[in-house]
Amino acid sequence: MDIKLQQVSYAYAKGTPFEKYALFDVNVAITSGTYQAIIGHTGSGKSTILQHFNGLLKPSKGQVHIGDRIIEADKKAKELKPIRQKVGIVFQFPEHQLFEETVLKDIMFGPMNFGIPKEEAERRARELVQLVGLPEEVLEKSPFDLSGGQMRRVAIAGVLAMEPEVLVLDEPTAGLDPRGQKEIMDMFYTLHKERGLTTILVTHSMEDAARYADEIVIMHEGRSVMTGTPRELFNDTEALKQYRLELPRIVKFQRRIEKMLGIKLPKVCLTEEE
Ligand code: ADP
Repeated sequence: MDIKLQQVSYAYAKGTPFEKYALFDVNVAITSGTYQAIIGHTGSGKSTILQHFNGLLKPSKGQVHIGDRIIEADKKAKELKPIRQKVGIVFQFPEHQLFEETVLKDIMFGPMNFGIPKEEAERRARELVQLVGLPEEVLEKSPFDLSGGQMRRVAIAGVLAMEPEVLVLDEPTAGLDPRGQKEIMDMFYTLHKERGLTTILVTHSMEDAARYADEIVIMHEGRSVMTGTPRELFNDTEALKQYRLELPRIVKFQRRIEKMLGIKLPKVCLTEEE
């Protein structure tokens, strides 16, 4: 599904003395089936954008196009329901949203809530629990008896159970160990390819952006300031500095990024931390 943000501005607490604009005339175009990363310093507006992809927030000005549907300021909640079904969001620490007695019920909750028959919801849950790398036995367990990493996988299975066409990932590996991080990111990439999903990754990890994304958008102070392929953006060290994009992380992964993208990063990336 093609996605487009057209001149999107968003104000928190609009019309009150606390009104605060977090997005200004943001333009982003994502082609169906591509993998898009959104990066930017803390406070640059990434979480605010993310919530526009399924209508959790509606633009104060401008439009969000999700396929042939439009989200704008005066859309009613009812009109947004079909969008919620198509766009799955894996929020940061999604395991905090687990609540059912068993893993099976938790994964089935979303589909059942959207009127999918019980048998089909259960079929999806059984398939997905394996896809996210868990043994089938966990289905009958309480999610709260699992490890943090396992809970994360259950929560992800719950989002996938809706069979979204667009998957939005908000720092989906935060707090996991390096091996778990790679396993989860590789799983999302395989799903992206096999199911032809449109994937949007909001991340601090320059390495993940370089490794997986077809295209990267850089957010800075509520604006979408640059768009390009990983190779184009990582070659532009001055821009990365200007937008305060965690250069130490680039240094840490410099060799790997250079290898992945077949480029040589300039020395200016090196900081005292190395
Ligand atoms: P990021 O995800 O890149 O860290 P956010 O989208 O969370 O950025 O924040 C963008 C701006 O909006 C920041 O200045 C932040 O303080 C502000 N902001 C975020 N959430 C709220 C809120 N609920 N109320 C008021 N301001 C907010």
